[in-house]
This record gives sequence, C-alpha cells and structure tokens, in this order.
Amino acid sequence: MVATALTLEDISGRLEEVRSRIDAAARRSNRSPEEVKLLAVSKSHPADIIRRAIEAGVSDLGENRVQEAEEKITEVGRSSARWHLIGHLQSNKARRAVTLFDVIHSLDSVALARRLESMCVEEGREKLPVLIQLNLAGEATKSGIDKEELPELVETVAGCSHLSLTGLMSVPPFFEDTEKVRPLFRQLRELRDKLKSQGVFAEGQGELSMGMTHDFPVAIEESATIVRIGTAIFGERQVT
Ligand SMILES: *Cc1c(COP(=O)(O)O)cnc(C)c1O
Repeated sequence: MVATALTLEDISGRLEEVRSRIDAAARRSNRSPEEVKLLAVSKSHPADIIRRAIEAGVSDLGENRVQEAEEKITEVGRSSARWHLIGHLQSNKARRAVTLFDVIHSLDSVALARRLESMCVEEGREKLPVLIQLNLAGEATKSGIDKEELPELVETVAGCSHLSLTGLMSVPPFFEDTEKVRPLFRQLRELRDKLKSQGVFAEGQGELSMGMTHDFPVAIEESATIVRIGTAIFGERQVT
C-alpha cells in the first residue's frame, strides 16, 4: 500500500471546503445547512487516516464492506464515531453488521430485513436504524430495490420491532453533467414525501441519503439530509 500523505491539517482543510460547499448549496435552496449531515466515506482508507478525520471533527463514517470495516472499527474504536454501512449487505454478514454499525443505509430485500431483525434479537440490539436503498435507474449492476417493491419492504420493516426505518438511500449513475442526476434525486424525495403522507415518517423525519463527491450540491438542492462524501475529504481511493 502506498503511504498516504494526508495530514490532520490537510483533512481539516478539505473538510472545511466541503462544509462550505454544503452551506452554499443549502442556502441556494433556502434550507438550513444544519439540515444536512455529512457522512465521511472512509472505505479503502486506513485506520490512522480515519483517526485524523475524527480529530478534525468528523462524527459519522461510512464503510461499504463489513470485513474491511470490522478491522478498522476494531482499531479506531466502536464508540469513537457513528459507523454507517453504505454497501450491499450479504445475509451471512448480517450478524456482524448488527454489532458493528450504528446505521444501515443499504437495506434492499424483505429477506435481509427479517434476517437483521432476528440478528438484533440474538445480539441484544434494541433498535437498528435502517434506510431502504432504491435503484432508481434500474441499473443491473447496482443493488437496491425498484420503487414498485417499496411498499412491501416498508411494511416488512414496520413489522420488525427491532428495526427502525429512518429514511431512503440511493446511488444514482455517474453523469458528467450533474444536472442529469437531478430528476433521480427528485424521485427519491417524492418517494419519501409519499411515505410521509402515509404516516410512515413523521413530519420533519424521513432521511434522504443521497449525493457523493461529484453531485452532492445537486442532491442538497433536491433535499438530501445526508450526503456521503469520500473523495473530496480523503482524496482518491487506493485500488484494492
Ligand atoms: C464510495 C461511496 C460514496 C462516496 O463516493 P465519493 O465519490 O468518493 O464521494 C458514497 N456512497 C456510496 C454508497 C459509496 O460506495
């Protein structure tokens, strides 16, 4: 592995820049910047860099693989930050995910919901916040459900007393022109609003986890409440 040169000062500077872009996007759309949570995506970056990010003020970290996350969470400390799983979760890793993560953004099947529920019971986890991941562009290579499957999954989660549905998440395709992704962000918001009108989310609730390094300003303009940002904070990922 190539030694990374990011110092605490580098990370602080990058964070400050990201935060000011979050603020600008929020103000452009008449929102308060406090409505937007920054999730720092640390996948592929080592534990010492994560520690530096926490020192620089990061409170929420996103990882996409259970095994990689487990190694780093063990090193950095389970309670040093809030840990979010943002990648696809295989059911044989559900038990570890339930003990390692504070929030799971990638709930994408009825079977996984049931599995997480029973793992919560076995592991003594009282409440696990989950977001349902949607595959809005119907990409064959991406996880997430079609919007037609949403009602059934919402109902399943409602029947799981240890799961708490806190919002919706999506990873839309990469478009060079970020305006092209706007309709997909809007769609996620509309799905969230529909669930709100059905009483699934209370007023002021129903997170929208959407927006990454290249498109987060557009996501915020379209009501994102959680942006998942890796590259703009940690630099390019090392290919593993
Ligand atoms: C890697 C990843 C991100 C962060 O991507 P960047 O472009 O580096 O900001 C966000 N969300 C998910 C689901 C990811 O896997």
